[in-house]
Amino acid sequence: MIMDYDFTDGRKLKVGTMYCVGQNYSKHAKEMGSEMPNDPIIFIKPPNAYVSNGGKVILPSISNLPHHEVELVVVIGKDCNNVRTNDAVKYIAGYAVGLDITLRDIQNKAKKDGHPWAVAKGFRTSAPISKIVSASQFGEEIPFFALELKVNNEMRQAANTKEMERSVAVLISYLSGIFGLREGDCIFTGTPEGVGEIKHGDKLHAELKGFISLDVIVDK
Ligand code: MG
Repeated sequence: MIMDYDFTDGRKLKVGTMYCVGQNYSKHAKEMGSEMPNDPIIFIKPPNAYVSNGGKVILPSISNLPHHEVELVVVIGKDCNNVRTNDAVKYIAGYAVGLDITLRDIQNKAKKDGHPWAVAKGFRTSAPISKIVSASQFGEEIPFFALELKVNNEMRQAANTKEMERSVAVLISYLSGIFGLREGDCIFTGTPEGVGEIKHGDKLHAELKGFISLDVIVDK
């Protein structure tokens, strides 16, 4: 099945590799019992993890502790390698709000054993993403956004992307230098504090305040 992002203006773009940043907000690093890392922590979700607005997160039975992580998602519009931070904005197609759904018990065990996070982070439906707001309306600026997540109408996470330790431009520069970025790739830019458990039947509502929202239901 080919999966596409939907833009608010009706355009579509094939979903590529999803690059995700760990511990990019200091208060979240603290709640996880970690120091801010010297180098970015990067992991990948496959395109098959994608869920569009209105879809379902299917929790795998292998976990007893699935968590929500609300994040700004940046979608890449042009292939690029070795991008300088000052040029990063040219390669952004748009912005969305996403959920980095995490099997926290599986991740904690992987951390302890020194194993990869692929199962904890990359399972099918682990990456709900809203419609994409086109970057063109912001001109040459990479804007800051207020991020929010409610679970069953109760506020769980609220922050501003200006609190990120590594900016969107820095992340594009870093990732394009190591992997190369391709049209349709996206970057989950890290979650602020307030991560917590989700369970079957929960209704998740995430927002980039004033721009776009995302609604998904948790199922099994
Ligand atoms: Mg995350």
